[in-house]
Amino acid sequence: PGVPVGSILRAAVRRWGDRPAFIDHDVPLTFTELGARAHAVAGWLADHGVGPGDVVAVHIPNCRQYPPLYYGIMLAGATFSPTNPLLPSADLAAQLDDAGATVLVTWDQVLPFVRGALAQTSVRTVVVTGEAHTLDFAARLGGLEDSDVDLSDLLSGDPTDRQLDAGLDPAEALAHLAYTGGTTGVSKGVELPHRNVVTNVLQSGCWTSGSLPALDEHGDVTLEQVGSPDEYPTRLGEARLVNLTPWFHAMGAIGYLNGMVMGGTTTIIHMRFDPVKYVEDAIRYDVTGIGGAPPVFVALLQVPGFADHDWSRVRGVSSGAAPLPVTLIERLQALLPNAVIGEGYGLTEVTMHATGNPTFRSGTRKPGTVGLPVFDTEITIRPLGGGDPLPAGERGEVCIRGPQVMRGYAHRPEATAESIDAEGWFHTGDVGILDEDGYLSIVDRTKDMLLYKGYNVFPRELEEILFGVPGVAGAAVVGRPDEGAGELPVAYVVRKADDAGAALTAESVMAAVNDKVTPYKRLRDVTFIDAIPVSAAGKVLKRELAARERESLQ
Ligand code: ATP
Repeated sequence: PGVPVGSILRAAVRRWGDRPAFIDHDVPLTFTELGARAHAVAGWLADHGVGPGDVVAVHIPNCRQYPPLYYGIMLAGATFSPTNPLLPSADLAAQLDDAGATVLVTWDQVLPFVRGALAQTSVRTVVVTGEAHTLDFAARLGGLEDSDVDLSDLLSGDPTDRQLDAGLDPAEALAHLAYTGGTTGVSKGVELPHRNVVTNVLQSGCWTSGSLPALDEHGDVTLEQVGSPDEYPTRLGEARLVNLTPWFHAMGAIGYLNGMVMGGTTTIIHMRFDPVKYVEDAIRYDVTGIGGAPPVFVALLQVPGFADHDWSRVRGVSSGAAPLPVTLIERLQALLPNAVIGEGYGLTEVTMHATGNPTFRSGTRKPGTVGLPVFDTEITIRPLGGGDPLPAGERGEVCIRGPQVMRGYAHRPEATAESIDAEGWFHTGDVGILDEDGYLSIVDRTKDMLLYKGYNVFPRELEEILFGVPGVAGAAVVGRPDEGAGELPVAYVVRKADDAGAALTAESVMAAVNDKVTPYKRLRDVTFIDAIPVSAAGKVLKRELAARERESLQ
């Protein structure tokens, strides 16, 4: 809609006031305080000439300082460009340079690496925070260079009463310059105007809360009906959630920062994922929701005592970013009897969210699918080489059209033209199928697909079966280069810490899978490892496993 992202914060301050927005190490930050700190940051930025057109790179992990910093950037009308705080310095330099960032916010623990990266970039102001989880906003740092600024100076100033984002055109002004996860290749900058962000927060929020304004006669909701964050309906009430999803990632920034603020949820901040601590805090704060990427749920189920706790207060589980195996849904549902287990699908290029299961329209779940489009969004399936939409039931490339589709990739007009066609359809690079009712299933990513003697093998299909084998805690399938066949499907498997896990052999795993698939898809080898490599956003890093396969042949 026609409002800037700062409206989400203003509405939340009005609606939720003294309720805790965030809790870090037991210290709460209320919505009112969040608003005041964000307005202080905005005033500082404006006074230092940072506003519309300027890019502020944020290179810190999830911490108490992050939300007021984020909204301060939004209120000042500048562009937020988040980075993975553990990015190697050469990649950071490339990203800062590509983004044209003039301000970098970082943390002292990584400062030595970051300094080396800055020479080749346009960064002129470095803002540093101490231990990123420092609770005192006014804490002082030692060891800064003269030109460095202490983040606490931005956070502890007087809140500005100027409405700096009043003149922004939400359809044009860039709110986020977000980088794709780089799971499959070079990370690209994605341009997201304010309208995309506000729209997608509303689209996603309506799906998560399951609470809707009046529906039209088709059971559909449209943007006009939701209107603005002020009118966003919620029945979350006293919702509480421990958050691990990194705010630098699309799912974090849209679903777990803006989404939670808009809905009045109290977020308990965990900077790192420690499954045991997560369960401790989830019990202590009596959480009402659990969210994250599938590897998070796999890890939680392994925590001793998780299965013994009474989780009947948990009403919602939200998964995204990667496939959620059906067997994992079943295991979760058995322990979380009152929770609606939801799965969302999306990409950085569509701001974050495109479809959800169960769907907000009917509440009907179809296991194994990622559900129906969020409101005002269309999905078609097209042949992999391009062409007209395919009928229901046929496999092809997932294409998305809606107000959340990015404006384009920064400085990459060719890549933009290749991915968004003349009719506004974004071609995702994911292979999927729509069923007769319009539910989408993600088969796999085109880049993860294997070619065995000219046949396509989709690792995801084999992984689904592997997840159902007793004793298997985690699994990933990649291709092993082979002269005769092209590529052979091979699996990496993590054992469960139980008797069934200990009893697994490569032969027993292969037998369990190969009985269920057509011969060309059969697994040819199984390697047991301690953990499947995953990115900070929870995606399996198949390129690392594929590289192992290539190396093992040399
Ligand atoms: P890059 O595109 O640079 O390799 P990335 O894929 O990590 O990086 P993101 O935008 O973070 O970039 O991820 C989007 C991808 O995540 C989608 O294209 C899809 O393959 C996958 N994905 C997201 N949600 C789901 C889901 N619910 N089920 C299956 N896959 C999903």
